[in-house]
Amino acid sequence: MKSKITDTNGVKIGLECHAQLLTKSKLFCPCPTDYHNSEPNTHVCATCLGLPGALPVVNEQAVRYGIKVALALGCEVQPEIIFYRKNYYYPDLPKGFQITQYDFPIALNGLVRIESAGGKEREIRIRRVHMEEDPGRLVYKGTIDTAKYSLVDYNRSGIPLVEIVTEPDLRSPKEARVFLGKLRSILEYLGVFEGDLEGAMRVDANISVGGGERAEVKNISSYKGVERALSFEITRQKNLLRRGLEVKQETRHYDEVRGITLSMRTKEFEHDYRYFPEPDLVPIRISDMVGEIRKEIPELPDEKKRRFIAQYSITMEHANALTFDINIANFYEEVASKTDARLGATWVADVLKGELNYRAISMREALKRISADDFAAILNHLKRGVITERGATEIIREMLDRGGKPEEIIKRKGLASIGSSEIEKAVLAVIKENGAAVDDYKAGKKEALHFLVGQVMKKTRGKAEPKEVRRSLMEKISKTF
Ligand code: ZN
Ligand code: MN
Repeated sequence: MKSKITDTNGVKIGLECHAQLLTKSKLFCPCPTDYHNSEPNTHVCATCLGLPGALPVVNEQAVRYGIKVALALGCEVQPEIIFYRKNYYYPDLPKGFQITQYDFPIALNGLVRIESAGGKEREIRIRRVHMEEDPGRLVYKGTIDTAKYSLVDYNRSGIPLVEIVTEPDLRSPKEARVFLGKLRSILEYLGVFEGDLEGAMRVDANISVGGGERAEVKNISSYKGVERALSFEITRQKNLLRRGLEVKQETRHYDEVRGITLSMRTKEFEHDYRYFPEPDLVPIRISDMVGEIRKEIPELPDEKKRRFIAQYSITMEHANALTFDINIANFYEEVASKTDARLGATWVADVLKGELNYRAISMREALKRISADDFAAILNHLKRGVITERGATEIIREMLDRGGKPEEIIKRKGLASIGSSEIEKAVLAVIKENGAAVDDYKAGKKEALHFLVGQVMKKTRGKAEPKEVRRSLMEKISKTF
């Protein structure tokens, strides 16, 4: 999407990012969390349905994951956490309150580095990280403001969320999207999050323009949606200010289908929620857990990027492309250990990633069809001249679409490159058949050579190495004619 906003002066954006943690069971009950392909309301119990008398028990793994996230974001982990009740009524929240954190969150004061426009590095401050339970999911027939009724699914009720709150340091919708990408990348490195799952990340965005009041857009559930919703908000707020009207402090809903935000209610304030400590849970001392969890933090994207550049002598651009997704980073390192590391970088970052994007599949899915071993074998065949670049690309495509082994595909599709005597034969034939183009080339028209190379490639059905065809053509034209 082309954003109409060019002037982002005075734009301040802060995000509250809710990420689902990949624990086996929910935050306060033993219900399984693998609800994504299940019938509604099948992963529920008295606790996550909020039935009277049901008591919560804290999932230790979820707390550990929360601490892990906080450490990876450079936060100061707090010595003790306390769960609070945030009171409000909504059909997806049958208890009438959400168990969350307030005065004693897991962590404060972190920092995430992002690459902004023009490759400039920007630091986005993290205000706090806390844990809370996910409410259920409301399903609207149509859109939120036109639906005659809504359905509620409590499978999601009680899924552990880590909420990451930034300071209002983001300056444009694009930056907000880049930040979310970086956050996703870090959480996936930690193995506590899977960004592809539906609803895995949900964002509330606060935005103000030119020092005016801020509006909050709630519950944006796609990465693209955040950028679009914010672009819409900037235009809306600027138009109000231009006409001398006020931006109201309010909560708005983002309509994904229409790409607009709609007023839901005037902004509620913290005191409206009547926060108080959850009497059914005791405070938890977490200071003793931190040292052990710190040791579990793997190499993170920024460090990996620096190491890749140093260890494999690859460009910053390639290092960026190779380290964003942990699955691609691991795949690349395995390829690099079995073939030329720089050749591997080009083929994973440019060719393979392009083919994945084209098919809209993730590296995780692609691994079912193509292994790093086979990928390295393809590149080694290319290096030895067994296949051409075009042949290598075709093998990769075939493997992604239908699977198979490189050697078998080379045979079946006749992709083995042809030798120099066959190239020479094709070159001579093409020179004979295209006298006019040969004359043009001799008269100094460079494009004529491209045309002749193309003709030879066509004749050899792409099985000749273009560089060799070019060399042979130039040689034959200068000698023979
Ligand atoms: Zn439950
Ligand atoms: Mn929240």
